[in-house]
Amino acid sequence: MKIKVNENFGNLKPNYLFSETAQKARKYRAEHPDQKVISLGIGDVTQPLAPVVIEAMQKAVLEMGVKETFRGYAPEYGYDFIREAIAGYYVNKLNIAVKANEVFVGDGAKSDLGNIVDILGDNRILIPDPVYPVYMDSNIMSGRSVTLLPATAENNFLPTPPDDDIPSVVYLCSPNNPTGAVYDYDKLKKWVDYAKKTGSLIIFDSAYESYIREDLPHSIFAIEGARDCAIEINSLSKMAGFTGTRMGYTVIPETLTSGEFNLNKMWARRQATKFNGVPYVVQRAGEAVFTERGLKECKDLVDYYLENAKLIAELLEKKGVWFTGGVNSPYIWLKCPDGFDSWSFFDYLLEKAQIIGTPGVGFGANGEGYFRLTSFGSRENTLEAVARLDKLL
Ligand code: PLP
Repeated sequence: MKIKVNENFGNLKPNYLFSETAQKARKYRAEHPDQKVISLGIGDVTQPLAPVVIEAMQKAVLEMGVKETFRGYAPEYGYDFIREAIAGYYVNKLNIAVKANEVFVGDGAKSDLGNIVDILGDNRILIPDPVYPVYMDSNIMSGRSVTLLPATAENNFLPTPPDDDIPSVVYLCSPNNPTGAVYDYDKLKKWVDYAKKTGSLIIFDSAYESYIREDLPHSIFAIEGARDCAIEINSLSKMAGFTGTRMGYTVIPETLTSGEFNLNKMWARRQATKFNGVPYVVQRAGEAVFTERGLKECKDLVDYYLENAKLIAELLEKKGVWFTGGVNSPYIWLKCPDGFDSWSFFDYLLEKAQIIGTPGVGFGANGEGYFRLTSFGSRENTLEAVARLDKLL
């Protein structure tokens, strides 16, 4: 062919983190078929959907088989019932004013985080390093260059705003994947103040807000002034086990503007043009999550993972291994002991304890020397992994 392609794809770094860890694990299993390998690297949930969700889906499936209740295309932004349920969660549970017309329901946070660049022009892009890779890659695909904000032990893996006046698009993820670090009210306020002062936009990824158990902000909109400078993107994946069911949402204040452009209206137009809605059955499942019973059942799911995280964290504490996360987050970010770098520690854990984790350097250069463990495994496997680590470290 002689067509021009999007040559920005040539600027993407090969994404071999999870394929390489999987390949090493496969090789090890093939060479040691009698040994049980346990994954604490998994970023996917393992526990089934809450009963309230299953009941709602079953009911919705039956409706789809009856002429009177059958539904075709769903509204591009979500049915009113789910937009109202999510706005109600903000108002009643988080004590934050959000209106239903500010909530856009989509098929997960990854899509919205990747697609949001459609409504943005050429700006300075600030992205923490290390962080969830989607922010970086979606900007590179669209031809933007990225400025990294180092997230290091010195700043507790919570970058602070730059000391300049350049209007920027800033990505923040709190509780953070991979470090588990969580912004407190004061630190997040500094970002909002910076954004307001410089005319910047914060894209706030709150995919793990339901893991917060201490007095820390669940939402950027908990900070005064954020409605003038922020978009929030959240997901039911880790809150309610929807990784395979697929639902997330983006909150854009109806008054959020840059120059003559209203970002809520722009996103509405973008979604109406390129997206045809989340399936009715899934939206009913999502609605069930935000009922009193749903929130209780999903909290139980999250508590299960948090208990796993606590077990891992207690062991690391006992062994004197430095780490962040493990509370208010499903992730534990540890400093590789004994001078190991990220990949050599991966090999060491696999060889000596048959445990798989994720090398920190895979999330950015500042992750070198660090390692991510997750709490999404079963209790049984987590306990066994903890016992093995107790012997090894
Ligand atoms: N944001 C962060 C920080 C994540 O870690 C993930 C998934 O691992 C997502 C977003 C994507 O969530 P979803 O499953 O809704 O696409």
